[in-house]
Amino acid sequence: MDFRPRIKETRWDHRREEELLKRWEEEGLYDFNPSSGRPIFSIDTPPPYPSGPWHVGAAAHYAQIDMMARYHRMKGYEVLFPFGVDRNGLPVEVQAEREYGVKAHEVGRERFLELCAQFLDRIERSLVHIAWRLGLSCDLKNYYRTDSPEFRALTQATFIELWRRGLIYEASRPTSWCPGCRTSIAEAEIEYEERSAELVYIKFKLKEGGDPLVIATTRPELLCTCAAVIYNPIDERYTHLEGLKAIVPIYGQEVPIMAHSYAKPEFGTGLVMVCSFGDYSDVRLFRELKLEARIAIDADGRMNSLAGPYAGLSVEEARRRIVEDLESQGLIERRERIIHRTPVCWRSKDPIEFIATPEYYLKQVEFIPRLLQVIDQVVFYPPEHKQLLVNWIESIATDWPISRRRFYGTEIPIWYCKACGKPHLPPPGRYYRPWKEPPPFERCDCGSREFVGEERTFDTWMDSSGSELYVTGFLRDEELFAKAFPCSLRPQGVDIVRTWLYYTLLKALLLFDKPAFRYVRLSGMGLDERGEAMHKSKGNVIYPEPVIEAYGADAFRLWSAAESKLGSNYRFSESHVKAARLFLTKLWNLSRFISSFPKPSSGFKLTKLDLVALAELNRLIEECRGAYDEMDVYVPANAIREYTWSFLADHYVEAVKPRAYGTESSSFTEEERLGAWYTLHVCLETILRLLAPICPFITDALWRSLKQGSVHKQPFPDVNPEWGMGPLRETRLLKEFNTAIWRYKKANKQPLTAPLDATVYAPPELADLARDLQAMHRIKDLRFSPPPPSALQLGPAVYVEPRRQA
Ligand SMILES: [Zn+2]
Ligand SMILES: [Zn+2]
Repeated sequence: MDFRPRIKETRWDHRREEELLKRWEEEGLYDFNPSSGRPIFSIDTPPPYPSGPWHVGAAAHYAQIDMMARYHRMKGYEVLFPFGVDRNGLPVEVQAEREYGVKAHEVGRERFLELCAQFLDRIERSLVHIAWRLGLSCDLKNYYRTDSPEFRALTQATFIELWRRGLIYEASRPTSWCPGCRTSIAEAEIEYEERSAELVYIKFKLKEGGDPLVIATTRPELLCTCAAVIYNPIDERYTHLEGLKAIVPIYGQEVPIMAHSYAKPEFGTGLVMVCSFGDYSDVRLFRELKLEARIAIDADGRMNSLAGPYAGLSVEEARRRIVEDLESQGLIERRERIIHRTPVCWRSKDPIEFIATPEYYLKQVEFIPRLLQVIDQVVFYPPEHKQLLVNWIESIATDWPISRRRFYGTEIPIWYCKACGKPHLPPPGRYYRPWKEPPPFERCDCGSREFVGEERTFDTWMDSSGSELYVTGFLRDEELFAKAFPCSLRPQGVDIVRTWLYYTLLKALLLFDKPAFRYVRLSGMGLDERGEAMHKSKGNVIYPEPVIEAYGADAFRLWSAAESKLGSNYRFSESHVKAARLFLTKLWNLSRFISSFPKPSSGFKLTKLDLVALAELNRLIEECRGAYDEMDVYVPANAIREYTWSFLADHYVEAVKPRAYGTESSSFTEEERLGAWYTLHVCLETILRLLAPICPFITDALWRSLKQGSVHKQPFPDVNPEWGMGPLRETRLLKEFNTAIWRYKKANKQPLTAPLDATVYAPPELADLARDLQAMHRIKDLRFSPPPPSALQLGPAVYVEPRRQA
């Protein structure tokens, strides 16, 4: 018989991946069909922010999301796998200003928005291209943009609905403000950094006379806003001060001295000056002590007129100068360096200031108990990461400020009556731009016909927290929305649990009293080879294109899966991508070998060895299903590689070669020979289907040359109860036996295929495999009885007795 492989190409050329991409597109392989009758599995793909191209870590994360989509498609779901680009927000304004050398205030709002869009388009093209090249089976033809009129209309509609329900209010309370980004920011966007600061001990005179008080502060530039001095009620050093007044140096205002437990006796001198506002505790104290706030810092992070001689200086400069002045007046007792937990902006890392600006707030504090109940209906992978969200929710103390004084964002849809100031909201449905459009109504209740449009935009999380509503068709396709919401899966990184995940769950709760998702998959971060986060500023960014060019998207994807334990950080390593590539070569060679034999559909008989291979295959199927069901790709990637390479190729294939080719046919029946062919094909076809979500290219290329159609239209493999279930003891013994014999032949400088003219003693559990083992190693005499004392031990239970020379 002629055994020529049906797979002609001797090696896998990863340039063929692009051919397959085109073919998939032509065949509409991944098109979403809402009326297929299958259950819908919807994925709220994270819309990437086009502030720069993806690094390998980000690309790996998207590849993993694609694996989830492909697995669920094979499980029989109609998978809604959209792609979107998140285009709202501040970073693009900063980038556009830098890129085009303009200032937003100077070029005019309209022109500035054009420049931002131009910048976004360019980066976006590169993102969409790499998403395509990676083989993401999402809808790249119809990807959405969060700055499109449709998306922004949805953001505005949800705002209008929340307004109607009384969940929005405007308040002029001190909000955290980033002077670098020139906008108020939410608690969720504040990080704390241990920074070095100077603690200055300042002398305050008592109005009533006597020794001066010494008060330590890290914010001497806020002296002008000092409204009280406090001490701890248990601090006996100061109880005599109750009711007295202190005189603030430089400015001379008289402030009350009072007891309050916020003052810590062990910090500084135990006395605290209460200013508006160094941090959140100041804000709370002011409210509690009913003090009048006086704001000394403006939106640029400069001191205003309240600061007197320091007006116009930056906060740092004012601090330096006021310390000099206090020093020259002999009002400083001492200065010391301390490490201070400083609130900073998560984007620009500028220290946060608190300034009072009127902002819109969305109520959240009162919904915390309900939200904690609702997230109990969501399944988290890995389960322990749920705690990240719970901890955050439990720490929330203020409502969400949702208005921003920025440009490239969704406009807040409000017009105000010029006469009475009443806010008017339009009906939901379309996208409104109040700063440039006439209002869609004629007159106010007060009779006035003049309106002025709101100029502010929303916090960008107001947009992105509606992504799951947008992709499931809310307000656009009610039929789809009814079927696809709550969204099945939210895959995202752990770094945006407090923002994207939290806000999305909050909004869905407020609008529908439902969890937004059934499953949340939280992945770790992709790091560089040394385990550090990749940043342009650090110069350690690795881009995926050259890696894919060199090794192919499948190798990159296999690396991504095999390296990323669910929920843990993963490191990029080119040598590991190379290793992944080697496995693909091995898979190609194995498939090519198997393609030399036809697959029999009947008339075959399985030997014990075949059943061992199939029982181990069953175990592999079970392991992969269990892991994929828990959104894990790490376990399948490694288990498939282990089975294919270290069992199937190394041991089973070597063992059945003589039977499959018929070279030692005397001891095997024709049915048994067909049994080998059958087993080889079943193992290969199963491996290709198990691996298809991770390596969609090579598996499809192989499938198409062995079978009909695409592997991606195949069902995911099921356990076959007729094969038994591994792990089997025989498997380990078989591997040990083969290894021992090969080592022995090598030591005797014999080719592995040479006849072994000896008596070999094998463990009795392998007796059923006798004929395959004998044929494989060409053993003259194979026994399963205890060896004589003279026999030479080769392995744990393998002995040999060479034939005596005649
Ligand atoms: Zn900032
Ligand atoms: Zn009015």
